Amino acid sequence: MLDGLTRDSAQMLIGGMWRDSAQTLPLTNPSTGAEIGRIAKGTPADIDAAVQAAQAALDGAWGTMSALERGRILTRIGVAVLEHVDELAQIEAMDVGKPLGQARADALALARYCEFYGGAADKIHGETIPYLDGYTVYTLREPHGVTGHIVPWNYPMQIIGRSVGAALAMGNACVLKPAEDACLTALAFARIAQAAGLPDGALNVVPGLGAEAGAALAGHPGVNHVSFTGSVRAGAAVQQAAGANVVPVTLELGGKSPQLVFADADLDAALPFLVNAGLQNAGQTCSAASRILVQREVLEEVSQRMAEAYAAKVVGPAMDDPDIGPLINAKQKARVEGFIAQGADLPLLARAQMAEGVPEGGHYVRPALFGPVPPDHVLACEEIFGPVQVIIPFDTEDEAVRLANSTDYGLVASVWSDSGARQMRLAKRLRAGQVFINNYGAGGGVELPFGGTGKSGHGREKGFEALYGFSVLKTVAARHG
Ligand code: NAD
Repeated sequence: MLDGLTRDSAQMLIGGMWRDSAQTLPLTNPSTGAEIGRIAKGTPADIDAAVQAAQAALDGAWGTMSALERGRILTRIGVAVLEHVDELAQIEAMDVGKPLGQARADALALARYCEFYGGAADKIHGETIPYLDGYTVYTLREPHGVTGHIVPWNYPMQIIGRSVGAALAMGNACVLKPAEDACLTALAFARIAQAAGLPDGALNVVPGLGAEAGAALAGHPGVNHVSFTGSVRAGAAVQQAAGANVVPVTLELGGKSPQLVFADADLDAALPFLVNAGLQNAGQTCSAASRILVQREVLEEVSQRMAEAYAAKVVGPAMDDPDIGPLINAKQKARVEGFIAQGADLPLLARAQMAEGVPEGGHYVRPALFGPVPPDHVLACEEIFGPVQVIIPFDTEDEAVRLANSTDYGLVASVWSDSGARQMRLAKRLRAGQVFINNYGAGGGVELPFGGTGKSGHGREKGFEALYGFSVLKTVAARHG
């Protein structure tokens, strides 16, 4: 089953060399629950070797390469990713249970990140600063040096694209620790990048456990910046570990993102977004729209129409490209079912259908829609990270804002309303890193800076903003009289 880009899945890439790992971890297919191979279980020693290889790249050709040339390499990688889109989609579908069409969209996004950051590499400028007579002052944007990238399993290709792509564009050398449940596309991407001419050591990939390889990377004294995407728990540990070395950290964490539906909204336009933004990737999306806040005048209509949409959705094996695939693993399935059980006291509006004959060992959960749900119910407050949405009624705009801002998170929010004044007011009042007006996600554009407030994290990735995050500003003051 494993060949082509997934051959030798239990290897890691350090300094341009593919190395066998002393120990391995099982690789399972979430659609069947079957073990389909092994992956490397990187150790702190492997991380150390990878950090040294990255430093060697910075001391060598990669460190002196012009921004133009780095950009050309990234663009070539993007083109090569495009040539492998179908293969990457199949690998991802098999490895993380993502429906084939959604996995293909992720592969296209990975290519797009490489193209975007390839084009942007030589377009980040310093400034000249008017200063005292006899001085010329200017700023330089320089790489941090070695950057660590710790990535989760839910959107591996997109998250690698946005963080590694931006870091390479600015001339950093990367050590990537993919999630233990999803490292095949990281390894495949590394093979593609190598073949496209990325110099040895500019990208190193060490799969392994979070508490072992991940923790070693976060706390390594040779790492100069850490980009972490994942849970609040692990993010806090990563920040603490990096803090010991006084190293900057970007944290992209979870969310409990709301969509606010006002009575004056175009419900026909809103409906697909209300449902799909909650169910995409089986709800295993940091920016999933897990709370639907609905003005009471349209509560019944929205509830009924969302319930109809749920009932028509089908859950099945990733390779069949269903609406909803399996969850990543048995633990996640048990966790989500636990939350659904906690909703036993709530009105259940609908559950999606299970396709006939799904493999017994697959980690399938039928999506569940609850409403109306009290805003202090556990299902309305905690990140479930599964296909569960709650509908919460409100009466006034002030109440909607209060409810929307009432969780510990602040990642994404959307406003559905025909009132331009309300759109502008709420865009300012909502506590979120991205606010969408009469849409949700805007197609996920790689150009759009992304990140959270509160427990959703800090720092921004995507767009040009990421390039500032992956670089350091140096001020040069020349006194020439
Ligand atoms: P996780 O935190 O368990 O794992 C994420 C990564 O961190 C994995 O590579 C893991 O091996 C590693 N890790 C775990 N413990 C670590 C430690 N102590 N030190 C260093 N590394 C460690 O998260 P997950 O379960 O894989 O992903 C789900 C979470 O990720 C959700 O909370 C979700 O909202 C969040 N997420 C956020 C974004 C975003 O952009 N904001 C995107 C995707 C996922």
